[in-house]
Amino acid sequence: MTVLHETRGPVALITMNRPRYRNAQNSAMTYALDDAFTRAVDDPSVAVIVLAGAGDHFSAGHDIGTPERDADTSFPRRAAPWWDHTDRVGADRRYAREMEVYLGMCRRWREIPKPSIAMVQGACVAGGLMLAWVCDLIVAADDAFFADPVLRMGIPGVEYFAHPWMLGPRLAREMLFTGDRLPARRAYEAGMVNRVVPRDALADETFALAERIARMPSFGLALAKRAVNLCEDQMGMRAGMDTAFGLHHLAHAHNAETSADPLAGMDAAAMKRAAE
Ligand code: ZN
Repeated sequence: MTVLHETRGPVALITMNRPRYRNAQNSAMTYALDDAFTRAVDDPSVAVIVLAGAGDHFSAGHDIGTPERDADTSFPRRAAPWWDHTDRVGADRRYAREMEVYLGMCRRWREIPKPSIAMVQGACVAGGLMLAWVCDLIVAADDAFFADPVLRMGIPGVEYFAHPWMLGPRLAREMLFTGDRLPARRAYEAGMVNRVVPRDALADETFALAERIARMPSFGLALAKRAVNLCEDQMGMRAGMDTAFGLHHLAHAHNAETSADPLAGMDAAAMKRAAE
């Protein structure tokens, strides 16, 4: 199972389960996550959702090179009012896929009416960062780190471009320009993370917080969540993200024109080498 789903009292635990690949997200995982979120929303006994990653890392990002990479596979579209990508070519193909599988799905999960908490250990990188950001709260283990290194591919940030709102513009630039890891403590100081806890206390602390929140009235929680989300959008996040998504695709297209592929010929191993 790519994604595990269980309930513990009023808390649904959704776990990305590709630990061998540091929970790299392929489309199968995206749609399994969407099923799990939908199930948690529909289950009246669930008040709060915790999103976790199995193993030592939350998520190393989108799948750019495991044997189960499935960018060419068609899935029933749920998140974007656009056509299927698989019978298209070039930018048309990429734009359709990423609007659905990456940006659209992330926005969909951000807007579900139950509070969500990302429970983060180890790597939370690029596409992993997108998943942590769509959650309402982030509890990080002291070994967690956050990074968006896609500028090494010439791409100006991941598809869900929330960096300036999550970190402030100054730190957002530093994260993008350097590709460096932001340690949990620094992410906390920047207001991106709610709690930093010892690694072995991560689950207990996250569930304790989830259970406290679960005692609040569900409709009130949904309204508070929506109020903050709408204010974030009034602060320009949604429009900024649409703008950045266009630039992201300009970069993919430039790479496709001038290098081996839309990722500038980089796979997971090349990205690792570039970071060293
Ligand atoms: Zn992309």
